[in-house]
Amino acid sequence: GSRPEKIKALLDDIEQSFELDEEALKTITGQFLADFNLGLSEYGQAMAMIPTFVTGVPNGTETGTFLALDLGGTNLRVCQVDLFGDQTFNLKQQKYKVSEQLKTGEATVLFDYLADSVDAFLTSSAGSPTNPHTPGELGQDPPALPLGLTFSFPVEQTALDQGYLLTWTKGFAAKNAVGKDVVKLLQDAFDRKHLHVKCVALVNDTVGALLSRAYTSGGCILGAIFGTGTNGAYVEQVANITKLGNHPIVAKGGEMIVNTEWGGFNNSRTALPTTPFDNKLDRESINPHYQAFEKFISGMYLGEITRNILLSLIDAAPIPILFKGKASDQLNKHYGLDTEMLSLIETAWMSEDAPADTAAAHAPLVPSDAAAPVAHVEKIDDSLLLDFSKPLVAAALTPLTLHRLQRIRTVLVSQLGYAAEDVTLRDAAVVRWACSLVVRRAARLSSCAVATVAHQMGFVAGLGSDAKPVGDTDVKIGVDGSLIQHYPRFEARMRESLRILVGANVEQRIEIGLAKDGSGVGAALSALQATKQG
Ligand code: ADP
Repeated sequence: GSRPEKIKALLDDIEQSFELDEEALKTITGQFLADFNLGLSEYGQAMAMIPTFVTGVPNGTETGTFLALDLGGTNLRVCQVDLFGDQTFNLKQQKYKVSEQLKTGEATVLFDYLADSVDAFLTSSAGSPTNPHTPGELGQDPPALPLGLTFSFPVEQTALDQGYLLTWTKGFAAKNAVGKDVVKLLQDAFDRKHLHVKCVALVNDTVGALLSRAYTSGGCILGAIFGTGTNGAYVEQVANITKLGNHPIVAKGGEMIVNTEWGGFNNSRTALPTTPFDNKLDRESINPHYQAFEKFISGMYLGEITRNILLSLIDAAPIPILFKGKASDQLNKHYGLDTEMLSLIETAWMSEDAPADTAAAHAPLVPSDAAAPVAHVEKIDDSLLLDFSKPLVAAALTPLTLHRLQRIRTVLVSQLGYAAEDVTLRDAAVVRWACSLVVRRAARLSSCAVATVAHQMGFVAGLGSDAKPVGDTDVKIGVDGSLIQHYPRFEARMRESLRILVGANVEQRIEIGLAKDGSGVGAALSALQATKQG
């Protein structure tokens, strides 16, 4: 075939490999549901379904002042949270960097650093004004400050204040921590430093998101993170968590929040259609074959999958498809393409802003563009398909489309280290196509996880006799993470496939809201629950 045909075939193949049709989505959700139930019945499963021992969901009337420590995101955070009991709160926080050395060195050094950060916070202005850490009168020892720890790694929890690290994720690999009780590791560090602080509760960021969203909106069924990593926690019937056996908590019945650790879905690598770009990422990751679902979904990885696609197009033989066969230094770097950049590219594409000077927009394409087939880029929805079989001539591009491509080119030049003359407008279109493929798949797979929770909790009629009529009530979901907050149309793409999986009726009732300061407020709420449980 001709050159454009070959290019089209290659791009079609890539696009096909990222496609998830309705049947695939349903099959994946079915597998997800089966894994949920396996994880609820047995310990040690890839879908860990961790009982959190958090048995109550806040309604917004809770009050008190608590410390919170949050490890597992991009930054370490120490917060002081005042809950006012009217669905509002005040939060003071200080962020601290966690160096690569701390992430991969000895665990005691990492936990000493956590303790030092809490100490620094308490002695700084951030911690002091309404700091409950004031000495008791007449030499009486004040009670230790209660602290909730948000620890966003898979932990097998055995009590609200006890949990054993199963494995590190998200680039952490500190030695001598796996298998240990992280509350004890932290408390020992506090004690070594003579800090009058007691870690009373351990939660995951997903649990924090659920609790904080419930506090600010009067209820919540699922807390979900779409940031560096992805995970979700939902409200389960204790009776369904059969692996608890005859744990005393079972007799009390009721509900318990379960941390799914859904990032481990597909660790068996049988459930998701996997591309060579995914395999390359997995092989070069620090945890090959683990967190398989997360590697399709989260901010840490989407840029890298896209980078792998772009490199394969740069290297395409005999004629390169991108950037005249040149890879910039940045694109050559492992994890050199951040998901934030994908976000910038799609924002540049989606903005409706017309060029200020439309005459400028009619400026001719660079000569190599004019000669090459131009992407079919009129559609701004996700179905954008580069149709090289029907080449559009440059003149057929609308000023708006031209302007969008020029904006993307500007991003590529300013952020990826390319010289302007190395980036054609067709390159811009191809890059944006690659970004949307990767993120669309991520959003669709995310909807499988959310749909699984809706099915498991009985919100979807026709599935199981105990399906709850959703009625007019909102099904509230608290979310956190840069991906869902900032990526253009991530939620819209997710909802599109969610509709397929739970029906339009249920999808409409799902209210997705930001769990603002979820980790801090959630940790405070869990500390409150701990003090109540005594
Ligand atoms: P964390 O999950 O670590 O608490 P975030 O929710 O901010 O923190 O997620 C950070 C991840 O989100 C990084 O992997 C980064 O690549 C990605 N990211 C940062 N900004 C954006 C953005 N504007 N759009 C999409 N992803 C982003």
